[in-house]
Amino acid sequence: MLEAILQVSPLAIHLMDLDGTVRLWNPAAERLFGWSREDVLDHRAPWATDARWEKFRRHLEQATQGVEPPCLELELHRRDGTPLHVELWTAPMPPSTTGPAQCLGMLVDVTERRRGEAHRRLLSEASEVLGSSLEQDATLEHLVRLAVPGCADSCRVFLEDAPGEVRCVVSAGLDAREPLDAGTPLVPDEAAVSRIIASGEPALHDAEPPSWLGVPLAWPGRKGAALVFSRTGRTFDARDMALARELARRASLALDHARQYHEARQAIRLREEFLAIASHELKSPISALQLQVQNLRTALERTPDTVPRERLHRGLDLVGRQAKRQAKLIDALLDVSRIHAGRLELNPEPVDLGALVREVAERFEPEMAGAGTHLTLTLPLEAHGHWDRLRLDQVLTNLMSNAMKYGRGNPVQVALSNTEAHVRLDVRDAGIGIAPEHLPRLFHRFERAVSSRDYSGVGLGLWIVREVVEAMGGHVTVSSELGVGSTFTVVLPRARG
Ligand code: ADP
Repeated sequence: MLEAILQVSPLAIHLMDLDGTVRLWNPAAERLFGWSREDVLDHRAPWATDARWEKFRRHLEQATQGVEPPCLELELHRRDGTPLHVELWTAPMPPSTTGPAQCLGMLVDVTERRRGEAHRRLLSEASEVLGSSLEQDATLEHLVRLAVPGCADSCRVFLEDAPGEVRCVVSAGLDAREPLDAGTPLVPDEAAVSRIIASGEPALHDAEPPSWLGVPLAWPGRKGAALVFSRTGRTFDARDMALARELARRASLALDHARQYHEARQAIRLREEFLAIASHELKSPISALQLQVQNLRTALERTPDTVPRERLHRGLDLVGRQAKRQAKLIDALLDVSRIHAGRLELNPEPVDLGALVREVAERFEPEMAGAGTHLTLTLPLEAHGHWDRLRLDQVLTNLMSNAMKYGRGNPVQVALSNTEAHVRLDVRDAGIGIAPEHLPRLFHRFERAVSSRDYSGVGLGLWIVREVVEAMGGHVTVSSELGVGSTFTVVLPRARG
């Protein structure tokens, strides 16, 4: 019966002399360690290194005296070198007439349980550590440090800037630029990382060491990224994969928070800048206006009957211009709050866009003539649609005044063209142009590509243009080359479908 128990026991059982020589080794022990009975019988137990055996003997004594429970936890290795975590339950066997004192051991494999615990600890640490920073770079740095050395020899984050072009941005453990060990190529190679990013699917290399594991990492604003672990010991498996995916998920959340925080700070900075510029822009026309009124008053008081008419006209013109500049800015500010409150109401009516372009152009005539800017209109016979006239007027006014303002006095062309369902407006100038890096932001609130020292303005015109055009179901785009000129294109559906 005892023999049957030894044979079927799911627990590894061994009997050893007190010097560690194995006298009994059951099939479960063969399965657990990978050494057969023949390999170990009458030899020192393969796990019984001197230090470990010493520790075991001390424990056995304490357990025998009832000081400690008869269970000892040990970190061992299987025959193939993979780590093995066991609980060793042990009992001394008194010496018999036929042999020396011995001890019986039963081993419970707790490798998976301990690994699960380690994973849970890692994840809870991850939540804490990843949440501790609101900077992307610091978050990535924390992320790669988490898993090393507990779960991997090295951990790296790759970013892909263009398809197929990946670069390692942070690494922990072995240096990402160095091969894992001499003679072994860097794993995984860039093509493999690129495939993970392109497919959005994790990948696992578990055939032979070094083993590696890669999961895609994505957060709003950044799609092409991957988190890669590698190690030379035990190969990664499905459980490691699940851990890596969960880690990537938590990291993505943290990175998204970092992004939102960054955006919020950017928005606050923009708003502060805007307030400074807007107050300056509001103040300077008022000062000029006050000065002009003051001058006129002094002139009138001194010589009421002989102030030249021409002087009066010039003064009043200036007052009118400054008041207009002020009103325009205040209108723009009102639009900001209206658009923000979702109250940009449109009153569509039949509009002849060609006629409207001509009307706005006429309004610009004196200013353009003053600046020496030549304006060309290319208008088709017909460009009718159902639109809000005042808002379209505002779109045209903003685009044309920019073309003049940033046009350096070069000719400005305004052209309309038609399709069945759309009307297209192009406002082209040959002015200062816009650098490519500024293009994506120009239609955002308060964004400018020039300094307020060189050009007055608050960076609201194009934002309002976009809001209005999109509210009408259309879209606005720009193509530009620095130093050559810009073309702003608005495409509007003739009626809201
Ligand atoms: P503002 O002119 O008040 O700064 P806008 O919203 O109209 O605000 O324009 C935003 C920015 O876009 C400008 O500050 C300028 O840098 C750039 N921009 C707009 N139109 C042009 C243009 N025609 N040529 C070159 N840059 C332009």
